[in-house]
Order: sequence, then C-alpha cells, then structure tokens
Amino acid sequence: MSQDKKKVDMDKIVSLCKRRGFIFPSSEIYGGLGSCWDYGPLGVELKRNVRNAWWRTVVQEREDMVGIDASIMMHPQTWVASGHVEGFSDPLVECKNCHLRWRADQLNGDKCPECGGELTESRMFNLMFKTFMGSVEEEANIVYLRPETAQGIFVNFENVRSSMRKKLPFGIAQIGKSFRNEITTGNFIFRTREFEQMETEYFVKPGTDEGWFDYWVKERFNWYLNLGIKKENLRLRQHGREELAHYAKDCYDVEYLFPMNWAELEGIANRGDFDLTQHAKYSGKGLDYFDEETNERYVPYVIEPSAGVDRSVLAFLVDSYDEDVAEGETRVVMHLHNGLAPIKVAVLPLSKNERLVPLAREIYTEIRRHFMTQYDDAQSIGRRYRRQDEIGTPFCVTIDFQSLEDKQVTIRERDTMVQIRLPIQELMNTLLAKLGGETFTNQTGWSAKEIGA
Ligand code: ATP
Repeated sequence: MSQDKKKVDMDKIVSLCKRRGFIFPSSEIYGGLGSCWDYGPLGVELKRNVRNAWWRTVVQEREDMVGIDASIMMHPQTWVASGHVEGFSDPLVECKNCHLRWRADQLNGDKCPECGGELTESRMFNLMFKTFMGSVEEEANIVYLRPETAQGIFVNFENVRSSMRKKLPFGIAQIGKSFRNEITTGNFIFRTREFEQMETEYFVKPGTDEGWFDYWVKERFNWYLNLGIKKENLRLRQHGREELAHYAKDCYDVEYLFPMNWAELEGIANRGDFDLTQHAKYSGKGLDYFDEETNERYVPYVIEPSAGVDRSVLAFLVDSYDEDVAEGETRVVMHLHNGLAPIKVAVLPLSKNERLVPLAREIYTEIRRHFMTQYDDAQSIGRRYRRQDEIGTPFCVTIDFQSLEDKQVTIRERDTMVQIRLPIQELMNTLLAKLGGETFTNQTGWSAKEIGA
C-alpha cells in the first residue's frame, strides 16, 4: 500500500464523504449548522458497523458484560451528584474586536488567533445544554441533555446488578448520543456539539482495580488494531498528575494520528468509587455491594473506557484512505476492514444487455439477503470498480456472457484487485466465509492458494 499519513488531508476526506454519500453538512440547504453533520446512506452503514463491532467485542463475546440504553434526559440531580453542574466547564475568552470565542487553555499566546485582537479575561463556561421539561419554562423544570452516557450507567447500577444477578467483576456498556456546548468545534466530525459515545463502566473489587485498569487499556488499544488501524498511527498517552480529575487514580488516552495531529480517540480512566459514592449520597439509596465470598460490603471501584463513535468513524476513514495506480490511472481506495465496509458486495453485470440482467439480478437478490449489496450497471466496468474501491467495497461480483454458458462468475478483491472465477453454486459460501465469521477477527483476503501464488 502506498499509504503516507501526511498525504491524507482532511479536505480530501470531507470531500469524498460528501461526494460518495458518507457525511453531509447538516441542514445544508439552509447554509448548514455549525459543527453539525448528517450521516448519509453509506455513512450510516459505516457508523452502524463501528457500533456493532464495539458491541460485539465488549458485550456479545463477554460473559461479564451487559448493555443498557438509558434516556438522554435524566433527573437533574444526577448532574449535581456527578459534579457536572459545578465543574463541567472550560475556560472561555472572547475577542474584544471580532467577538469570536476561544478556549483559553487551547490558545498559544494572549491574542485572538483570528484577528490578533485583545482577549477578555477568561471565565468558566458550563458545557451542558439546558432545556425545559414540560410546558412551563421555569427554573424548576430545567433538564440537561446528557454530556456523557456514563451517568445513565451509574444510576442503573443496582437495577442491572439485581435483575441480572451479576457478581463482581462485571461491566455495563452503553452506546448513545451525548451533547456538549463546546466553545470551539471543528476538524470535521472530530469535535461536534452532538456526538455519540460508546462507554463501559467496569465494576471491580477495590484493590483489584489497577490490574483491571491495565487490562482494559490493552483491550481497547487492540480493538482498533484488530479493525485495521495501523499501529504507527495509534499510541497511548498517560495523563500527568495535573491533568487527572481529583477522584481519578489513573487515565490513559488512546490517541490517533489524525490529519491535524495526534488527538484523543478514547479515554480509559480508573475512577475509584467516586461515582457510586456520589449517587448514593445524593439519592439516599445504598449503592454498595455485598461480597458473598468474603462477607464484606463495599462500594465497587470502576474502570471506564470511553470512546467516541464519530471520532472512530473519522479514524477508520482516514486510516483506510489510499491512492494507488491501477491500469495507469490514480485509484482512490478505502482499505476498510471487511466488518466496517458499508457495502460488502457489488454485483456488476458486464453490460445492461437484457440477456445478462435476469442472472445478475437473481444473484443480487440472493446476496443482499446476507450482506449490504449494491447493484450497478451504469458505465464501464472499470469505472464501476473504481466507484466501489472508493467506498471500500471488499468484493465485486461480475457476470458476463460466458456466465450464461458455464454458470461461473468472477469475484474481484478490492485490495489486491485479484480476480478469480468460480461456479455460481460456490459463490454464496465463498462470500459467507470471507465476510461472515472471519469478519471481525482478521482482514480477509485471498489465500495464496486461491490466487495461485
Ligand atoms: P476532549 O479532550 O477531546 O474534549 P474529553 O477528554 O473531554 O475529550 P471524554 O469526556 O473523555 O472526552 O469523552 C470520551 C470520548 O467521547 C472522547 O474520547 C471522544 O471520542 C468522544 N468525545 C468527547 N467530546 C466529543 C465531541 N465534542 N465531539 C465528538 N466526540 C467527542
């Protein structure tokens, strides 16, 4: 692969995403809405595949994990107990000249980066979106859009533990939307005001937390590698003492080398017993745990791996983007992991000739029962391969006139561009083997035997 990280600039990704139906600016016909993006037909598939891959690894394949889906609006006391009302703020400064607002802790120097104007004193700005529940807009009816999904898990700790008869260590996972009124947004879907998180709270016996923390840091790092992120573009960064929240014992960020720089993809924190203790105090409900083995009662410690769906989508798009040369032309290809590719198979009759159509459509109808499949008969076969390469489709199935005689079709693989011919009877099993079970464990390509190497 001719991948050089520095060659992929964000503009290329943004424009490909728009052109090929991955991501559009929100409400674009009205001029768009700052930092809001809409996932198009291919983006919604990619995003769902990212969520599914996470759920599969974190919940489905584990005995010690269960999932929930809590409401976005929660009892306002939740955010008092969690510390968000008091402390979920960033330092804000405003330019006295152009009135743009900036996060003071992200500025180099004391002048406005836009116009060089003088900045105001910094003040703390709470990032939670406020709204009103019910028809009366008064202080008593204030609710917040959750700024993280984690608190929905903590407040359900006892419901989940008792209904599922869970013993420590066990975890609760959740995927859902979160909202932060970020002072500065940008870098496409990297930092937005509405975004999606994939969070786990893993509850453990105090004293075993450090071992579990190390375990989760490795687990989460490897998750990205297993889905095809290149090792040289991923790193771990431990938070310094001054960066840690006062209750956190330790924290690592999984960072990715985005086009703008290294930046956080996921944070993994050892939060001690802070959250359960706070909710027990503010709700008056006991959230401690009775350990039947040792006859002890204690508040569990928690390890929190907290990832962003949108940031992961961006990392997978950036990492898989490549340009190489095919048949003397530049080819844009997304080397997306098979499990993440929005479209798994494209069915391409050699031409629109009416003799080919019935067989091609029959094959298409069969394949789409199993996988997201596209049927494309417009333009030359070369152009159609390019279109599928650009959206990361792992396999193209071509039906030609010979197929009508010998009942064989051609499968072409995206990365190697190798083509093999095989009986239609074997097509489904071959695709199932390549895209089915193997999907999440390794990148499936042709074996040496198949390509005759
Ligand atoms: P940052 O330092 O980038 O603001 P954070 O440390 O505040 O992030 P966390 O509170 O740890 O972020 O949230 C966990 C994850 O949620 C992040 O690693 C990121 O993937 C995602 N996330 C957080 N804020 C945003 C946002 N504004 N837009 C998109 N994703 C976000």
